[in-house]
Amino acid sequence: MLTLIHKECGCPALDESPVGEVCAIPIDRFPFTCFSCLEEIDDASEVRLSEEMGI
Ligand SMILES: [Zn+2]
Repeated sequence: MLTLIHKECGCPALDESPVGEVCAIPIDRFPFTCFSCLEEIDDASEVRLSEEMGI
């Protein structure tokens, strides 16, 4: 499962990952507010995709 990570705070940028199996940052969602630190994320350069390892 892929999660959208906010680079600045290193935490999930969205409550639930909308990325799913598409493996792409949902650029049509920008700008939006980071779920973790509540700062505004303007574009894809401020986030990265992280694969959560389900253990
Ligand atoms: Zn953040």
